Amino acid sequence: MDHFLYKDGVLHAEDMAVPTIAAQVGTPFYLYSAATLRRHYRLFDEALDGMDHLVCYAMKANSNQAVLKLMGDLGAGMDVVSGGEYARAKAAGVSGDKIVFSGVGKTREEMKMALMGGIRQFNVESEPEMIALNDVALSLGVVAPITVRVNPDVDAKTHAKIATGKSENKFGIPISRASEVYAMAAKMKGLKIIGIDVHIGSQLTELAPYKAAYEKVRDLTETLRAEGHEIKRLDLGGGLGIPYERSNDAPPLPMEYGQMVKETLGDLGCEIEIEPGRLIAGNAGILVSEVIFVKQGEDREFLIVNTAMNDLIRPAMYDAHHDIIPVQEAAAGIEKTPYDIVGPICESGDTFAKHRDLAPLKAGDLVAFRSAGAYGAVMSSEYNSRPMIPEVLVDGHQFAVIRERPTLEDMINRDTIPEWL
Ligand SMILES: *Cc1c(COP(=O)(O)O)cnc(C)c1O
Repeated sequence: MDHFLYKDGVLHAEDMAVPTIAAQVGTPFYLYSAATLRRHYRLFDEALDGMDHLVCYAMKANSNQAVLKLMGDLGAGMDVVSGGEYARAKAAGVSGDKIVFSGVGKTREEMKMALMGGIRQFNVESEPEMIALNDVALSLGVVAPITVRVNPDVDAKTHAKIATGKSENKFGIPISRASEVYAMAAKMKGLKIIGIDVHIGSQLTELAPYKAAYEKVRDLTETLRAEGHEIKRLDLGGGLGIPYERSNDAPPLPMEYGQMVKETLGDLGCEIEIEPGRLIAGNAGILVSEVIFVKQGEDREFLIVNTAMNDLIRPAMYDAHHDIIPVQEAAAGIEKTPYDIVGPICESGDTFAKHRDLAPLKAGDLVAFRSAGAYGAVMSSEYNSRPMIPEVLVDGHQFAVIRERPTLEDMINRDTIPEWL
């Protein structure tokens, strides 16, 4: 459930009419609902009720500082994957002891930043990383709390580009080598083992792959404890999918996921950490765009909109589906037309949808791309010299631009022409 609904035939974000915001901000823009973000965080928090736990929002899904502040105020921790994300989380007021550092290629500078600013734990993904982290910690005279990310070799049954838990993926260490790697970590004075980490992918639409992975984590917890390691925290990653297509079967709910976690790992006495990103932010955001032209092709009609793959790359990159709806609700019973919905960029890949049935639209009409709150704005670029689009947050009756649209001058002035040219 989200808070983007029609009221009197006009799409609203909570209590704000979308055309009102569009008139002030200009199109295209991202629009987020604070109530939906809060709701999704609470669903996870409640799903793990009864277990010692922390929900660490995977901020790569949507790292606007207003979103981070909102999450932090609810009590969320953060899962970060770069020094930039770490700095952003801190800037939004999240304390270091709630920040988890993930990623296969942490640099020494990033490790140092996090060790000095405070960190909940590093999820270490390889032996070379472990050696580097130990070095950095010793040089600073501190001890780095770690888990080791294990790769359980399970098929997450998701898009190949976002599956991370198979042995062919670059992530984690093979679970079969975990004993050896933990023994190595235990000897390093700059590291303190606190648990195990696993994250098998994104946009998972079934619980079975999770369960398979978590059973392996369970066995590993017992093995490592028997080998003398203290395993008190299990980081179970993120990845729970969202319904991008309203007409399709719904993925499992956080409550069902939480139930499975309790059944599989509940009696180990471990603190549970999860790292959801997409499920928190995805359906809490839409992308509002305007029709530039309706163009008659030889065998189809094109709806050319003023947003493009540089703003929302998911369809081009992952063949992703986004529901696209008119901001002015179509009259009941009106006959729909199939449109190919495309952006202005000079690539055929700049196609959002093919043969999408919509009530007839004309130039100037507003449309909304649903489920655009995660992996939308954060993956945008200025390709084709299109300035990044603004982000807006609605909370009840109020809204604010939480990232401004740069002017063309702002964008152009970022380049430098050398004097000798
Ligand atoms: C991307 C990522 C997540 C979040 O995945 P979602 O599908 O957005 O929930 C969590 N943990 C790690 C380590 C990640 O890389």
